[in-house]
Amino acid sequence: MSTTVEKHVFQAEVNEVLSLVVNSLYSHREVFLRELISNAADAIDQLNFRSLTEHTLLGGDKDLRIELIRDEKANTLTIRDNGVGMTREELISHLGTIARSGSKKLMQSLSAEQKKDITLIGQFGVGFYSAFLVADSVTVVSRKAGSEDAWVWESEAKGDFEVRPGQRNQRGTDVILHLKDDAKEYAEEWPVREVVRKYSDYVRWPIKMEVEQGHGDDKKIEWITLNAARALWTRSKSELDDAQYQEFYKALSHDWQEPLAWTHFKVEGTHELAGLLYIPSKAPFDLVEKRKGGVRLFVKRVFIMDDAQEIVPEWLRFLRGVVDSEDLPLNVSREILQKDATTRFIKKQVVGKTISLLEDLAKEGETERTVDGETKKVRRYETFWEEFGRVLKEGVYHDIESRERLAGLLRFHSSSNDGWHGLQDYVARMPADQKSIYYVAADSLATAKASPHIEALKKRGFEVLLMTDTIDEWIVDALREFDGKPFVSAAKGALDLPESDEQKQAKEEKQKHFGPMLERVQKVLDANVKTVRVTDRLTDSPACLVSDEHGMSARQERVLREAGHEVPNQKRILELNPDHAVVKKMEALQDEAQFADWSSLLYDQALLAEGTLPADPAAFSKRVAALMAKA
Ligand code: ADP
Repeated sequence: MSTTVEKHVFQAEVNEVLSLVVNSLYSHREVFLRELISNAADAIDQLNFRSLTEHTLLGGDKDLRIELIRDEKANTLTIRDNGVGMTREELISHLGTIARSGSKKLMQSLSAEQKKDITLIGQFGVGFYSAFLVADSVTVVSRKAGSEDAWVWESEAKGDFEVRPGQRNQRGTDVILHLKDDAKEYAEEWPVREVVRKYSDYVRWPIKMEVEQGHGDDKKIEWITLNAARALWTRSKSELDDAQYQEFYKALSHDWQEPLAWTHFKVEGTHELAGLLYIPSKAPFDLVEKRKGGVRLFVKRVFIMDDAQEIVPEWLRFLRGVVDSEDLPLNVSREILQKDATTRFIKKQVVGKTISLLEDLAKEGETERTVDGETKKVRRYETFWEEFGRVLKEGVYHDIESRERLAGLLRFHSSSNDGWHGLQDYVARMPADQKSIYYVAADSLATAKASPHIEALKKRGFEVLLMTDTIDEWIVDALREFDGKPFVSAAKGALDLPESDEQKQAKEEKQKHFGPMLERVQKVLDANVKTVRVTDRLTDSPACLVSDEHGMSARQERVLREAGHEVPNQKRILELNPDHAVVKKMEALQDEAQFADWSSLLYDQALLAEGTLPADPAAFSKRVAALMAKA
């Protein structure tokens, strides 16, 4: 064994996290103990899991526990666990780099100003490095389970750390904090007891500490257990208060902020399980990338795995929490999980309980919440929707069984009111003669709102849902209807507006009257449009483009193309507003060249109004300029 001391420099991001943690979390520094105890509990969980198959791993040291050792003379606090321990290589990589790729990317993307923002720091959690909130220097002595060797890691957080061989009688890890002058209280009994009670009561392994018991001559020093040491989710709801649920969440997720909501449930019967699922207050900065964490799977209180994707559908990937099954075998692996019928049952419970939680939230009125340090009145469901709605929508598309319930949870913007609107409310507001749910999709709310396609609908007092997420049109296609009312795109097919016989007749006459002109336009634009017809869709604009009733919208086609799919160019229908001055003027235009110019202009305008760039923008502006010169 080498006896030399090695020096290593921290990965650049670690230095940043360190200075961030120390500077921004100063006023909350007591959380260091929650973070370190949480790491110790995880290490014991991992050991416990491995010992299921490696029967000799526990050896004589079967009493799994965390110990807090105070030394008031030396000014140290040690967090000791007899968990899985770390090898030399693990010490270097786990405590010298930031492994979670998400955190690293986040760190790199933050500006100096953002780095002062405590809520952003919360996104990746502080973890081990929070030790430096209270310590000038930290010594970690660790011995990996199954190994004879112990290693020491030591740092003053000044850019580097040291690794050298060490001594430890049994497996596990000591994190020794050499307390700062102004943090000496953490070597005293009561401050430590208080912090443990506040933040770590739920920890499922006993946290033990030596304390002075009794009075006068009866005084003696005794080890006591500071926490309840029962897995929080096994306790009954009536025993627990909000603060306990919140602390559990924070330690579990390393999230800095309070969770938005949670559901704690037990299922009994053929299958038994307990679950505690949380919805965070904020979406991770990159929801697409799955973060370590997710939902942890336990079997009979034994930790099995982090982020058990088999029991949580992709579209609930924002969930955090634990699920504890009584039925799965303890030696369950991902492969077994993928095949086991119990897995499907558990997943169904996770989905069902989460949807119920969301339905409850959706019914709730405003509550007072502190968001980013500001206390405001908010509807929790709206907060949820803004953070995670986009992900939940994937469920409408992918999960046929949940589709109907999820449809009730959808929220959209609407042409008649600001804010978010559910389909139930939309339907309730429909005037008697409105038969369909109208929607229009565009890249931005402003474009959707100003879309020519919805002019006539608005004029009639029909509300139009404004959709701006890429996935929206697909989920509407998947849903087809809500509450017996079909979804109708304002930009597809015919609008089927209720009309009187006279109105119908007038429309037919207009189509006939404009017939020859429509044919002339068609001739000019033949390469681009399928037909040209008069419309009752428009009131203010001269023209718009629509797709076939069952065809894809231009936006859907574009999205597919951008995703690398081959999509044939479908010609669309050009609709002209027979009451518009431009259209009336065109009818009288004899000069064929001029007529062709105007036709192209109408077509390009229709494209622009829906947010699409004309194929030849230069030609478009030339035509506009020529028109202006003539005016
Ligand atoms: P996180 O716990 O979020 O991964 P930390 O910075 O808190 O981040 O810890 C980094 C890693 O160091 C942990 O993932 C774990 O592998 C290891 N580690 C920390 N503390 C211990 C411990 N007491 N015993 C074993 N491993 C530990």
